[in-house]
Amino acid sequence: AKKHGRGGVQRFERVMHQASLNRLTLENDLQRALERQEFVTYYQPIVDLQTQQFAGFEALVRWQHPERGMVSPGEFIPCMEATGLIVPVGMVVLQQACEQLHRWHQQGHAHWTMSVNLSVRQFACPTLVQDIDRIVALTGVNPAYLKLEITESAIMDNAEAAIAITQELRSRGIQISIDDFGTGYSSLGYLHRFPVDALKIDRSFVVAMEVNGSDYPVVDTILALSHQLKIAVIAEGIETQQQLELLQGRDCQYGQGYLFSRPLSAADLETLLKATVNS
Ligand code: C2E
Ligand code: CA
Ligand code: CA
Ligand code: CA
Repeated sequence: AKKHGRGGVQRFERVMHQASLNRLTLENDLQRALERQEFVTYYQPIVDLQTQQFAGFEALVRWQHPERGMVSPGEFIPCMEATGLIVPVGMVVLQQACEQLHRWHQQGHAHWTMSVNLSVRQFACPTLVQDIDRIVALTGVNPAYLKLEITESAIMDNAEAAIAITQELRSRGIQISIDDFGTGYSSLGYLHRFPVDALKIDRSFVVAMEVNGSDYPVVDTILALSHQLKIAVIAEGIETQQQLELLQGRDCQYGQGYLFSRPLSAADLETLLKATVNS
């Protein structure tokens, strides 16, 4: 502290004061942001690792803050989960994502899929299926190309309800993926009772695979499991050519990550699509 002197301490106090103010006002800000329609959806390509063509996209929410610019979900999703605001905001994202997918389908990208994250809170919301039906009808999207990503904790919180909701959604042709597979506290026991269409391998496992090489069995185990269950598998957070080659060599079907593209706005994606033949 001595080295930085009084100025450093004052700066520290100012930062701390600001942090508590931020916490107190975040909920109000988020409520207002919802009213002012400041939440926008970005899209990250999901790539077929053999052909390296786009297979679909994951919808990821951003907060277009009038002063702070683009804010990442890590800064506000926990607060929205705690307050329940994730339920209406999640529906905004779902609607934007369905509108965008419908547009792409009409432009001829007929096979592209759209993955949308569903929080534990949304999954427990009694009107979830109704709300999804309403958005599908409103946007005209083909539900067979819609994938909902849920975490293991959303399932384990109430397994019986989760099975019922999943069956309802799948009867409409909507697909279900398990996000961050293997990072939750659950056992694998639910998988045979819980019909899912895909497992997503968390980025931490992809990183560990590259670092530890053949000493690291987790990715192989998830791949073997998904092949056995005959469901799709998507590796997250692919950043290096080495990771890509390791996954290709293990017959991992799909992937997403900065190596291919960061999440982009719909407008930036349009530009990217025009500039490449990868469509
Ligand atoms: P997630 O569902 O696991 O999404 C993947 C996250 O990894 C995204 O972060 C994405 O930008 C990031 N990512 C993708 N490729 C790479 C890579 O190569 N390297 C690295 N370091 N990161 C990569 P993002 O967009 O910040 O979202 C963070 C989390 O916030 C998401 O994790 C998800 O849990 C949550 N989230 C985002 N949007 C929504 C939403 O609309 N609804 C709900 N309920 N949750 C959301
Ligand atoms: Ca996800
Ligand atoms: Ca994930
Ligand atoms: Ca993750």
